[in-house]
Amino acid sequence: MANGICVFAEHYNGNIETVVAELVSAAHFIKETTAEKIMAVVVSQDCETLIGQMGRLDVDEIYAVKTESDCAFQDDALSSVIADMIREIDPSSVLVPATITGRSVFSRVAAKLGCGLTADCTELLVGTRENGSYYIKQNKPSFGENVFVTIVTKEGCYPQMMTVRPGVYTPYEAKEEKVPEVKYLDIKAPASKVKVVEKRPAASNADSILAAEIVVVGGRGTEEEESFKLLKSFADSLDAAIGGTRPLVDTGFIPFEHQIGQTGYTIRPRICVSFGVSGAIQHTEGIKDTKLMIAVNKDEEAPIFNIADYGIVGDLNEILAKYLEK
Ligand SMILES: Cc1cc2nc3c(=O)[nH]c(=O)nc-3n(C[C@H](O)[C@H](O)[C@H](O)COP(=O)(O)OP(=O)(O)OC[C@H]3O[C@@H](n4cnc5c(N)ncnc54)[C@H](O)[C@@H]3O)c2cc1C
Repeated sequence: MANGICVFAEHYNGNIETVVAELVSAAHFIKETTAEKIMAVVVSQDCETLIGQMGRLDVDEIYAVKTESDCAFQDDALSSVIADMIREIDPSSVLVPATITGRSVFSRVAAKLGCGLTADCTELLVGTRENGSYYIKQNKPSFGENVFVTIVTKEGCYPQMMTVRPGVYTPYEAKEEKVPEVKYLDIKAPASKVKVVEKRPAASNADSILAAEIVVVGGRGTEEEESFKLLKSFADSLDAAIGGTRPLVDTGFIPFEHQIGQTGYTIRPRICVSFGVSGAIQHTEGIKDTKLMIAVNKDEEAPIFNIADYGIVGDLNEILAKYLEK
């Protein structure tokens, strides 16, 4: 009988990705109801270093496969190894980061295992069937991000496999280090059809709204070319990333990766300054964990002021122009 909540320990350049700790938070939430053990799967040339980084995640078991070469970007070989691992450990659910690697590898894993894969979940809840068995309610935005759907894997079909959007859960950190049980599996990676010719870091990481300490958020009030230019100059002056509400994405001012909210991304910056944002719940869900929130809006009744630590009532163009002049 399938048992256990399994998390894919994605890593890059010798470091476990932060999103893994986020998924472990989701796993602990599920465990509170199902009482299943939490497992992690890691595939690497250097499993020891990566396992050493997982001491504060409070996972019960780590399953590892040591590869002869670095399998990064060789998703065909990696998916074959992981499918074999999952067959062997037989978890009831598999939680995967909805990253480029997670999506690419696990769509292949799902095909090899003949199971489903729910993509891009933003919330995981636990349901109980009449017979007392548990299932995961895999909630995600759909139909062009216009509706929320709950996807449930058919009873008896295991594993329930899902990718989870980065930034949705707070990274898990146990108070004390725990040494989990580590099991090395004797699985060989097949030869990959992918040859990595060169690795180059992305041009700039500073613009990622998930990593930024300060995020400047634009709403529909900044939808004029001039207003957006002022917003951008303001963000540059603070070395901040730019995020926005959905209208700003719809009109092409910012890419979807910078949309904040229920169907966009959840951010936890130190400071967030928002301009021309009304404060709809679908947006504020994505900024509620900001440490210091400042909002500018010309409407003193705008709901954004209910969640702001400081509010400025006024025309954003005038306020930004004055600030930049100084
Ligand atoms: C299922 C679903 C999912 C959704 N997901 C998201 C999501 O993830 N993220 C998201 O953002 N939205 C989402 N939305 C849309 C959301 O409901 C709101 O429509 C959206 O957040 C409103 O964006 P806004 O605040 O920029 O625009 P508006 O609500 O139009 O507000 C614009 C504000 O700007 C102010 N303003 C205008 N001009 C100025 C000026 N010159 N100076 C100062 N203030 C000015 C106005 O007073 C107003 O308060 C979703 C909706 C649905 C139905």
